[in-house]
Amino acid sequence: MINTLSKPRHGIGRECVITRRACFSSSHRYWLPEKSDEENLAFFGKCSIAPGHGHNYELIVSMGGHLDSDGMVLNLSDVKHSIKDNVTGQLDFQFLNNVWPEFDITKTEGILPTTEALVKVIWNRLKDDLPLIALRLYENPNLWADYYGDKMEALLTVQTHFAAAHRLAKQEINFEENKKIYGKCARVNGHGHNYILDVTVRGGIDKRTGMICDLSALKQIIDDLIVEKLDHTFLNKDIEFFRTCVPTAENIALYIADVLNKPIKTIGANLHKIRLQESPNNAAEIYVEQSISNFSNRKRKESLVTPA
Ligand SMILES: [Zn+2]
Ligand SMILES: [Zn+2]
Repeated sequence: MINTLSKPRHGIGRECVITRRACFSSSHRYWLPEKSDEENLAFFGKCSIAPGHGHNYELIVSMGGHLDSDGMVLNLSDVKHSIKDNVTGQLDFQFLNNVWPEFDITKTEGILPTTEALVKVIWNRLKDDLPLIALRLYENPNLWADYYGDKMEALLTVQTHFAAAHRLAKQEINFEENKKIYGKCARVNGHGHNYILDVTVRGGIDKRTGMICDLSALKQIIDDLIVEKLDHTFLNKDIEFFRTCVPTAENIALYIADVLNKPIKTIGANLHKIRLQESPNNAAEIYVEQSISNFSNRKRKESLVTPA
């Protein structure tokens, strides 16, 4: 008979982060009673239109802990029920402004149910039940908020895209030498990509509007300064900066970070990260606010929930 007790039990006590995805569909409206209808429309745009509009939300819950003797951090069935009881079961097919008292804007402490406000409120409702590490809430595939339990701060990401051509070659060396460095990317007539750009901003959530910053102003800045400028160009020829700088994904991402940094500050947020995906196989990420050699604990948590 084999003595199983003497065998090392793999994993027990070791740390692991697990994630669970949950979806719900809800409606909401951005409208504050202290503003006139005109002010609400000017401030919140179409989001202020009555009776509201809806989204198919996707919530990613990251939890950390030590493996038990069953090889699990948590029993997934318990996790599933907790998320359903505390969040999705209450929000699904509901009008967010009415369903939770946190969003009762007739009270002075009420906050509008924006993506960043909603993810924070969900955190508060789950935190006593689950060992949360991070939450990500997608309002749609192009807009999501991350929350790590910092009382007042969240991250908001806007995804957009542009198409551009480029050629990777240094002017000071010949074709053969460029080919050794850049391979096929050095071919003389260039090639193109459909770039996917994620712009992540960090900031405090306004206690009333629920916003890190004016979302339409943020989108306008990205559109005006990046998408309109780079879309359907040959980067090396059409964009002055890339006449002398080789437009690798890394250099384009850095260029975007440098162009957006100050304008985003003017709308009260901080540019946190640029992610530029050049193809399904490669992407470049710029962490504007921190060195990657000195990642904070928060960053490590974030990296565990950032899709590859
Ligand atoms: Zn909405
Ligand atoms: Zn390329």
